[in-house]
Amino acid sequence: MYEDQDIDNIELAMQLISVSDHQYEKGQSDANKEVAISSRQPMLVCDVCTNTIIESLHHPTYFPDGAPVCCDIIWKQTICPKHLEDRTPICCGCMRLKTSDVTYINLGEGREICLDCYSTAIVDIRQCEPLMIHKCHEFFRTLNLDLPDDVRVFLVDKKEMDRLNCEQEPTPFGLPFKADMGTITGVTSCSRKGDSVVVERQFHGDYRTGIAILFGLPKIMTQAILAHEMMHVWFRSKGIIFGELEKKLEEGMCQVIGWKWLDWLDSEITSSSSATTSHEQAQFLRKLVQTYKFVVEKHDSDEYGQGFREVQRAVARFGLETTINHMITTYKKKASRRMPVTL
Ligand SMILES: [Zn+2]
Ligand SMILES: [Zn+2]
Ligand SMILES: [Zn+2]
Repeated sequence: MYEDQDIDNIELAMQLISVSDHQYEKGQSDANKEVAISSRQPMLVCDVCTNTIIESLHHPTYFPDGAPVCCDIIWKQTICPKHLEDRTPICCGCMRLKTSDVTYINLGEGREICLDCYSTAIVDIRQCEPLMIHKCHEFFRTLNLDLPDDVRVFLVDKKEMDRLNCEQEPTPFGLPFKADMGTITGVTSCSRKGDSVVVERQFHGDYRTGIAILFGLPKIMTQAILAHEMMHVWFRSKGIIFGELEKKLEEGMCQVIGWKWLDWLDSEITSSSSATTSHEQAQFLRKLVQTYKFVVEKHDSDEYGQGFREVQRAVARFGLETTINHMITTYKKKASRRMPVTL
């Protein structure tokens, strides 16, 4: 969807934006405006520190977890590259860097979220169950994939997610797990108190298969994570043991399903925008969808990024059903070779 050439063009366009067209819109300090006007040179001012940008952000640039930086490409933020590493807060929903004129809410555990994203965030388990799960089942049926009915979804904090992920870095946004993970500490609700949140928790032991998702993420992101994790559950329901299918293939397919769900949501936002949401809200939601699609498409990791691109190419060429069947047949052949020979 976004070719490298597009990114080059965006960068070029950003560098050519004249001071009068660009800087005044961003409400820069008068001192900066004067410097810019007097020099008549194309100059960019940082949205975060309001200083003139000395070095532009070059792409591709990635966060440590392999997600591509997209605050400039999708959200048109103009930033000094140093803010990606100088502890400037980054919204865990839209991935925009905090500017001085906006409020970010501290979700605890080092996660912050902008007010726009927080207004659509999943902060109560009742927002997931049962509606969001129903919708996910409905979506899977459109793909001819039947999901088991007994999957419980839990919102969790980062600490519980790390425990479920056996303390491996980085903390995932979502994770499927089985009953052997013991009692789950789920977040039932959280409410805003000033610039932070108060979280209510509950213990759960009554589940067979569960999906954990970090609480407080925008609904669109939560839905895409749910679709991704449900695909892992689907593989397990077909008898495919975790870790036995090549990781790149399984994660790649789960990313494809998450991406398809985003595509589906995109058309839903477009068709329902006039009825239920304002124009601005619909624009914002569409940009969130663009952000997550971009992250999936351009991810730098072998499993999630390269895996997605390879599986997506196979699905485009052979169709979803054939690609999945091929994955399962190959898996079963391998599994049968491992069976002990009995005489
Ligand atoms: Zn700056
Ligand atoms: Zn945000
Ligand atoms: Zn996964």
